[in-house]
Amino acid sequence: MATQRIMDFLATRRPEGPCLVVDLDVVHDNYQAFRKAMPNSRVFYAVKANPAPEILRLLVSLGSSFDTASVAEIEMALDAGATPDRISYGNTIKKERDVARAYELGIRLYAVDCIEEVEKIARVAPGSQVFCRVLTDGAGAEWPLSRKFGCVPAMAVDVLRHANLLGLDAYGVSFHVGSQQTDLSAWDRALSDARMVFGKLAAEGINLRMVNMGGGFPTRYLRDVPTAQAYGEAIFDALSKHFGNRMPETIIEPGRGMVGNAGVIKSEVVLISRKSDNDEARWVYLDIGKFGGLAETMDEAIRYPLVTPRDGDEKAPCVIAGPTCDSADVLYEKNLYPLPISLTIGDEVLIEGTGAYTTTYSAVAFNGFEPLKAYVI
Ligand SMILES: *Cc1c(COP(=O)(O)O)cnc(C)c1O
Repeated sequence: MATQRIMDFLATRRPEGPCLVVDLDVVHDNYQAFRKAMPNSRVFYAVKANPAPEILRLLVSLGSSFDTASVAEIEMALDAGATPDRISYGNTIKKERDVARAYELGIRLYAVDCIEEVEKIARVAPGSQVFCRVLTDGAGAEWPLSRKFGCVPAMAVDVLRHANLLGLDAYGVSFHVGSQQTDLSAWDRALSDARMVFGKLAAEGINLRMVNMGGGFPTRYLRDVPTAQAYGEAIFDALSKHFGNRMPETIIEPGRGMVGNAGVIKSEVVLISRKSDNDEARWVYLDIGKFGGLAETMDEAIRYPLVTPRDGDEKAPCVIAGPTCDSADVLYEKNLYPLPISLTIGDEVLIEGTGAYTTTYSAVAFNGFEPLKAYVI
């Protein structure tokens, strides 16, 4: 949200064009809230949510570990001061030569979701720890991650058995319940699957030790979301229910929940118009859209809070669109967005909750629009 530090920065620096401003104090507080809510879990920050070096350096200093998806992200975490034992290569889709490079850099913890990937790791990262990702249905998530990652629990048993056979350390099971997950029971269902995999392999003498419970922790957009504490309690209850007094090591991988509410995008109204004299909805065009970093408005999945200088005035429903010459660059049209009738071309609009999944989704120069600038303060 727009903290006083962010408002002061915008008022004094008056940056030109759309930009993201991230308040590190909020990231700091989020990290501490996760630690407090889930004191027995290691925190692996999902670097893809926002890889700004200032954020990574802060999290290194606080003791965080890092979930990465590519060699470039591994190098960003290393450059920020993280040691290799604090970095996982959590993408289930890796080129063998990237695994080899990661191994050279000291990375010993890898995600897999099939036998083919296990074989790559056994060849070029011998002896490493692997965890197998299981599918979840993503129900209850506003940004579900679908069937692209993970396998069914029965297949995870085969995958980890194969890893053990090839001399890898069959370390555990991972899942991701879907991003912006507001249904606290989602972890219970996934942990029940994880327990099944643990049990089947234990019967064969392969003892898994770790459950990676992924991300999914939300940012508050227009609706309230449960607190980190509520997530911690629900997850602890589910772990106790399924694992009893044989608690595994656990990892969480917050991305959105770590940085989403720490950032605000400043934008400007470029145009307000109608499509016909009797058009009910006005079209409000901002200087940022889908290609400038707001990709999560795809299918209107994420609905950001907008703050204008005229919010006290009467409001009417609007279509909100970006500035590029691509018809996909419409943010909200199926569900119209109420904005003040007095809103005027040139007004500044703050887009809140934009600390995660924005800068890295911004195109390099589509239509000649510069990539989203970021200031981390
Ligand atoms: C993207 C991702 C995360 C972060 O998810 P959030 O919903 O942003 O917390 C965590 N783990 C993995 C493997 C991911 O791909």
